[in-house]
Amino acid sequence: MKIAELFYSLQGEGALVGVPSVFIRTSGCNLRCRWCDTPYTSWAPEGTDFELDRIVDEVRAHPARHVVITGGEPMIQPELVPLTERLRALGLHITIETAGTVFQPVACDLMSISPKLSNSTPDGVFAVPHDRSRIQPAVLAELMERYQYQLKFVVERPADMDEIRALIEALGAPREQVILMAEGTEPARLAERAVWLAEICKEEGLRFSPRLHIDLWGNRRGV
Ligand code: SF4
Repeated sequence: MKIAELFYSLQGEGALVGVPSVFIRTSGCNLRCRWCDTPYTSWAPEGTDFELDRIVDEVRAHPARHVVITGGEPMIQPELVPLTERLRALGLHITIETAGTVFQPVACDLMSISPKLSNSTPDGVFAVPHDRSRIQPAVLAELMERYQYQLKFVVERPADMDEIRALIEALGAPREQVILMAEGTEPARLAERAVWLAEICKEEGLRFSPRLHIDLWGNRRGV
């Protein structure tokens, strides 16, 4: 499996924010978000091929009970099902961070689904394939039916709420499982957007997520 990085940190986003976790960041993505914060897994994928044994050994070397498989898009990795089964056999809590466009019958305790809104569409030749792929209602429904999940939306501007409301309603998602997070990789920009996003969360009854790893360590790899 092509791995961009494997590291021990704190979960920075979503319902498990602050939980010590080993991160397995797979390389490769079927989308091309304009503001992708890990372009080294999507626009210009980098990484090293790891055998599953090596991934499992490196995870076990850390004192965490939680493991997060992220990307890129981990759900396009051919060996994802056996990897998750091996991690489950170790008794680890498994989070998978996905855009929710591809299904695989993985072992997973928290499916962290981040459907990509129109604010993610890039300019140029990737715009059409990105827009065609970014929302897959049947895949989202299957993930939500089979797994404990959170729906985590990346919000760039208040007007994004029209799309978010429509999608929540179409999917029938309970509001307590919906999380809003500001787009941005600079602490100053996140702080500025947090001011209006917090008010939206209060008005809409939706959970706010920080980006704790950016607040603590900035926009760096391996955190
Ligand atoms: S889905 Fe995630 S990894 Fe892929 S391009 Fe979008 S933000 Fe980047």
